[in-house]
Amino acid sequence: MKSIVIGSGFGGIAAALRLKAKNHDVTLIEKQNDLGGRARVFKKNGFTFDGGPTVITAPYLINELFELFGKNPKNYIELVSLNTWYRFIFEDGNKFDYSGNEDEMKNQIEKINKDDVKGYEQLVKFTKKIFDKGFIELSDVPFDKPLFMMKQFPTLINLKSYKSVYSLVSSYIKNEKLRRVLSMHPLLVGGNPFTTTSIYGLILYLEKKWGIHYSMGGTGNIIKGLEKLMLEEKIKILKNSEVTNINFDQNKIKSIIINNHKELEANNVICNADPPSVYEKLLVNKKTNIFFNWKKKRMDYSMGLFVYYFGTKKVYEEVEHHTIKFGNKYKEHLEDIFDKKKLNNDISYYLHRPSATDKSMAPEGNDCFYVLVPVPNNQSNINWSVEGDKFKNLVIDKLEKSLLPDLRENIVEDFYLTPDYFEKELNTKYGSGFSIQPKFSQSAYFRFHNKSEVYDGLYFVGAGTHPGAGVPGVLSSAKVLDKIL
Ligand SMILES: Cc1cc2nc3c(=O)[nH]c(=O)nc-3n(C[C@H](O)[C@H](O)[C@H](O)COP(=O)(O)OP(=O)(O)OC[C@H]3O[C@@H](n4cnc5c(N)ncnc54)[C@H](O)[C@@H]3O)c2cc1C
Repeated sequence: MKSIVIGSGFGGIAAALRLKAKNHDVTLIEKQNDLGGRARVFKKNGFTFDGGPTVITAPYLINELFELFGKNPKNYIELVSLNTWYRFIFEDGNKFDYSGNEDEMKNQIEKINKDDVKGYEQLVKFTKKIFDKGFIELSDVPFDKPLFMMKQFPTLINLKSYKSVYSLVSSYIKNEKLRRVLSMHPLLVGGNPFTTTSIYGLILYLEKKWGIHYSMGGTGNIIKGLEKLMLEEKIKILKNSEVTNINFDQNKIKSIIINNHKELEANNVICNADPPSVYEKLLVNKKTNIFFNWKKKRMDYSMGLFVYYFGTKKVYEEVEHHTIKFGNKYKEHLEDIFDKKKLNNDISYYLHRPSATDKSMAPEGNDCFYVLVPVPNNQSNINWSVEGDKFKNLVIDKLEKSLLPDLRENIVEDFYLTPDYFEKELNTKYGSGFSIQPKFSQSAYFRFHNKSEVYDGLYFVGAGTHPGAGVPGVLSSAKVLDKIL
């Protein structure tokens, strides 16, 4: 059985390995000259910048890929668990250190609002119920049958999936600062906490269940370990190879075309490339399916990301590994990004400092960072070649005032990525950071199906398909594929 995987994000790599374990003849095809997709690595003058994912949760999903072939993951990757998961910083300068230590969590909640401790305990209990259903039971099963979706409705309603994550959290927590902290998880998978279905509240519990981990040498070392495993298992890997067409014979998949000229035949094609782009650009013999076209047309896309990577000659010892800083007008800011599609100066951001845990990420005596700022996706009319430098300067000004004094004069290496990178280099529609949004109307059956609803032999894994974005989500999508094929 010949299977071709298009794209080498975590989802694509996991799919290639799972199919290889079923004895398929697997070829993995990647447009870039390196693997990883959003998890690519940029190395500059002794600094190692992980391009995207930095917070590793549910590590068993990564370990499973090695275990499929009887290999010990520890021989390929080194994951360490972190004590402080996120340091939240509010506009008034107050801090909240978020961790898996429940006593410490309650102490800090008590300092902000003692009446919220009980609500917090109840919230955690409720997110466990969502987690048991949404993650344990449903994250790795196919959702391509309407009847199966309908069967889930009573439980989903019981779990209040009609509420947003923010509204669910607010029903337990009174203090606005704590509401923001405990409802921020949708932002990690491309959603607005004010509109994302409360089902994504399960991430709060998922973190508690398995902890938050860091991959020594960076997340890129996981990709490196998986690449080594794929080569050992004789998966063919083609880099610098963009799939430009997928061909069908009648309704059955036939072949793909690489870089507009080279044809490779296949029984199955598994797309890790963004589903809307695949349906619009790679399928030449278009079939019509009115319901599917309507569904695709009304999709809402996740936000864009401005990611500024920088190395400094000063070491900022007091800065945690993961910091999240909220702007003042948080809700309005998110509305500007998701709905009005305009830039707002009152930014909220996530600051990554891997050198807090792993000195190998920067040359000795230096420090390594990236700062991720949610921005509108390319449905906006922002011209990033004009706005990019201005926005970078705004971000540096904000960082200097809060966490990194004298930053500008200490930067020795820097570059940034905008939604244009995600659109042009990673082929993601509108340059969104996480494909389509994780709304109820775009989740499970309503998301792009793992087995194409239109073409035979065509399958999807990765952020735009069920269960959704984030490393655990895309690794689970490959488990769904495993069950379908
Ligand atoms: C800045 C950032 C930070 C993040 N932080 C976290 C985090 O801390 N924790 C977490 O769990 N998640 C995080 N995420 C989300 C997570 O990284 C993604 O959801 C996940 O990695 C996406 O994986 P994927 O399988 O969908 O593939 P992608 O990473 O999207 O890769 C798709 C690949 O397909 C290739 N491709 C596309 N079209 C073609 C074609 N026609 N031919 C050949 N190749 C093609 C692309 O080049 C790309 O390599 C972050 C994302 C970003 C952007």
